[in-house]
Amino acid sequence: MPELPEVETIRQYLETEMVGLSVTAVSHLDGRMIKLGDDDADGLSRKLLHRQLIAVERRGKYLLFGWRPRGYLIIHLGMTGRLTVHARLDSRRAHTHMVLDFGERQLRLSDPRRFGRIGWLQRRTWLDHRLGLEPLSQRFTGHTLWQCLQGRSQAIKSLLLNQSVIAGLGNIYADEALYLSRLHPLRRAGDLDLATAARLARSVRKVLRQSLDHRGTSFSDYVDALGQEGGNQDHLFVYGRQGQPCLRCQTAIVTVVLQGRTSHFCPTCQT
Ligand SMILES: [Zn+2]
Repeated sequence: MPELPEVETIRQYLETEMVGLSVTAVSHLDGRMIKLGDDDADGLSRKLLHRQLIAVERRGKYLLFGWRPRGYLIIHLGMTGRLTVHARLDSRRAHTHMVLDFGERQLRLSDPRRFGRIGWLQRRTWLDHRLGLEPLSQRFTGHTLWQCLQGRSQAIKSLLLNQSVIAGLGNIYADEALYLSRLHPLRRAGDLDLATAARLARSVRKVLRQSLDHRGTSFSDYVDALGQEGGNQDHLFVYGRQGQPCLRCQTAIVTVVLQGRTSHFCPTCQT
């Protein structure tokens, strides 16, 4: 699933290449992908047609396309979504559910499993009310993270995945940050003291920035807006490394399943 660094890598490309362009046609729009807002495919197509793209923003794992006249197209890539830019005549990938024409270029959304979602919002406050701290923002500090953990009885891994607490982390970067912080994924969130929470906040930022530097992690489906894989999968500490030696202590990395998600960790380093 694309997490913050992958979505941000896509965003940066689209901001550079597409802002200023206008939608000249909505060549294809599958109404089954519209899971936000009140529009059907025809209604959303009418809203998008002839609008000029003036901003591409990100909130958590959501992309927000800002337009003139005002409004937002919101896109979440779910598990297998890809958002890519093509020449109009390029052949279409199977499971392409949205095609927006910007002159000779097309923005295409493909998503074989259709867990992704799109929709129109007049204001972005809908997202801000549902999503928690942005981990790369200045507001995300050891202290604000520690405040979020107070009174929480669930496992710290579950809390890192809770988008209403911290927005943008998924299974990969939660596991990586817990490893860097030497924290067991099942540690009770509310038990972390301020110094430990500060260490975890630093680790979260570090693993996200490292991945951004490598243009994201292509473990399964993720590609950037040009269809290129990222490079961070070659720099992971624990995610996907079960059975391989810990990079610090050589103990074999193990897994534990928590709420249906597999956590990867070192049983020696992470307590
Ligand atoms: Zn270890």
